Amino acid sequence: MSEDCIFCAIIAGEITGRTVAETDDALAFLDANPLSPGHTLVVPKAHHTRVADMSAAESRAVFDLVHELAPRIEEAVDADAHTIAVNDGPEAGQEVPHAHVHVIPRFADDDGGPIHAVAGSPLELSDEELDEIAESIST
Ligand code: AMP
Ligand code: ZN
Repeated sequence: MSEDCIFCAIIAGEITGRTVAETDDALAFLDANPLSPGHTLVVPKAHHTRVADMSAAESRAVFDLVHELAPRIEEAVDADAHTIAVNDGPEAGQEVPHAHVHVIPRFADDDGGPIHAVAGSPLELSDEELDEIAESIST
């Protein structure tokens, strides 16, 4: 647990969260400022800032809970789809430094965009540039 982490305080029961599911290593609760009805956050119980800071087992526990909850949330709020996303680091918009997955119910008429909209317009990269990037990630 990290002092002055709001999500650690929810996990410890020090402040109230609207918990919707819990496993040994992960907790899911409603976002306090929902982007749509049913907007849920799924977090590791241990304090980790970024996705890559979690152990593989913790990461699996978080995404297992996302996998289990998504259809339940969709049914509960009669949504048509979900945007499932992580702001992984402050430059990506992460405000709470405790890793979390947003599960955001989407509706046919909600006027929201696809996840591609979050990082601006698509880049025009050459085949060589794409090959170079793929190689530096894979090696
Ligand atoms: P992010 O920008 O990805 O770090 O998102 C943090 C999310 O945490 C935001 O959507 C906030 O609305 C949400 N949030 C902040 N404080 C609380 C809280 N006490 N309970 C539930 N959700 C919270
Ligand atoms: Zn924390």
